[in-house]
Amino acid sequence: MPLNKVPGIDYVFRDGSLLLQALTHRSHSSPHYERLEFLGDSLLNLVAADLLYRHHSGAPEGDLSRLRSRLVRGATLAEIAKDLELGRHLRLGVGEKRSGGFLRESILADLVEAIIGAIYLDGGFDEAYRIVESLLVDRLNNLPSAEALKDPKTRLQEFRQARGEPLPDYMVISESGADHAKVFRVACRIAGDWQDTEAVASNRRRAEQEAAQKMLDQLMARRSDD
Ligand code: MN
Repeated sequence: MPLNKVPGIDYVFRDGSLLLQALTHRSHSSPHYERLEFLGDSLLNLVAADLLYRHHSGAPEGDLSRLRSRLVRGATLAEIAKDLELGRHLRLGVGEKRSGGFLRESILADLVEAIIGAIYLDGGFDEAYRIVESLLVDRLNNLPSAEALKDPKTRLQEFRQARGEPLPDYMVISESGADHAKVFRVACRIAGDWQDTEAVASNRRRAEQEAAQKMLDQLMARRSDD
């Protein structure tokens, strides 16, 4: 029986072999979904950009890009795949099946991308747009604010800039452990009557982000005391 539709996705394929390919993992057989996934990834990014551009008139580029990352990140796509139970249609090799591959979030996200790539090839850009919009619309309307999506270092920097105060400094206090298990201790310091904050993480960037968050907590706590 040729497969030409996936329940929950309002699109009927003319060429069912494209859909079959979109549902085929490389551990199962060839042609598999990876080339379609590549196309779908680009389509998702473009359509998400277009939707955000219309829905958030006036938002600066940095906000639009943060919102888009949230909208098309792997975790969001995996949620969509779970809602649609796409994992049930996935064709996976035996070994991969045993290792629980059908549950892996990254594979579920790939499936969404691959199906969109397949719809684009089968039905053209407008159909792909329509389906992506239908998949994203609820999440588009429930996105966190662009402000909330900023990382702590960015928020701390903007907080200081907005008040015309000097920017924070980040210092690596220590770096220990073997190459594969490094531990970074980082401090964040700002001018004025503030305690340095410190954080430990397996990479420097993460440690800096956590130290920045602690500094923000300190600034906010004092502000609410005033
Ligand atoms: Mn992918």
